[in-house]
Amino acid sequence: MTHGESPIAPALLEWHARAGRHDLPWQLHRTAHRIWVSEIMLQQTQVATVIPYYERFLSRFPDALTLAGAPLDEVLHLWSGLGYYARARNLHCAARRVRDEHGGEFPLTFAEVAALPGIGRSTAGAILALTLGARFPILDGNVRRVLARYFGVAGRTSDRAPTQRLWEFSEQCTPQAGVQRYTQAIMDLGATVCLRRRPLCMHCPLAPGCVARRSGRQHEFPAPRRGRARRARRVFMVVALNETGGVLLERRPESGAWGGLWCPPEFTTATAARAFVRNSLGSASPEPQALAEVEQAFTHFDLLIAPLLVHCTGGSAVQEGMSLWYNTRAPARIGMPAPISALLARLSEESLFEGRCA
Ligand code: SF4
Repeated sequence: MTHGESPIAPALLEWHARAGRHDLPWQLHRTAHRIWVSEIMLQQTQVATVIPYYERFLSRFPDALTLAGAPLDEVLHLWSGLGYYARARNLHCAARRVRDEHGGEFPLTFAEVAALPGIGRSTAGAILALTLGARFPILDGNVRRVLARYFGVAGRTSDRAPTQRLWEFSEQCTPQAGVQRYTQAIMDLGATVCLRRRPLCMHCPLAPGCVARRSGRQHEFPAPRRGRARRARRVFMVVALNETGGVLLERRPESGAWGGLWCPPEFTTATAARAFVRNSLGSASPEPQALAEVEQAFTHFDLLIAPLLVHCTGGSAVQEGMSLWYNTRAPARIGMPAPISALLARLSEESLFEGRCA
């Protein structure tokens, strides 16, 4: 490869002009803020899922200042269902840094962008490449897969040496001109053609030079991360309903998979859950009713939630900002994990929220 010549950019650009995606919401009216939000939402999440969330989020938070000024609860509310909530917490924290340290304008130098919470080397490069056409290589999951297959880079995604090698290839492949279109093109190729399970090599503009395709070893690249044994965790949640159909929710600590979201009070044992019902809920029904368990898979563990339904009069005292009685008919704008929203919606449909006392 001659210095400065990308071995893949011409074919990719030609393919993208013909078959790429050109009308995604974040491609229209490109600003660093809009591109930043899209890049964060697209981490571990597919385009079709992201679009409605993106549109709602941007219409409420069109710039970093509005995002910085909003309560975290509202940010998490608009993120509810999208998962990986640390992304939303970091986005909110980064917006405050943009307000406090950059006068409300999203910074446009690599070092400043990469210093913001939740933004790594690849995301910083993508924001600057897609917003300004600045020449920065990227290596998100899709690009990593395309380059690992095209150049036949063996090794696990989590290992240092292959990652370093792939960054070098990404640098060599990023053209001197047309960076914005190239960056979009290689991301699109990974998302729509060089698919993880069944790559559509027949439609790939890189097929003639692709090492993996020539040797029929597409599925070997990139090698998966070293598997960690999955853990299973079981918890008990007390779904306490008061006379007016409110359900008691507590704000979870900021760290953890559902950090900052609101859920029914959680306990590690049924005994602890029952003690809470006895001691903290006024006039609760004596024996909680076990509801169907709810399963949720996280990256490294499976969570099994055993909900225990109780009806109570008076209920427990709520602590401002930490707990509340949530009314499904006039819901507060707070973040709630999708399985909990689904559970409350189901109870509401079954009319279990109608005023009933023990
Ligand atoms: S030829 Fe197949 S494996 Fe190679 S980059 Fe294209 S889609 Fe991926």
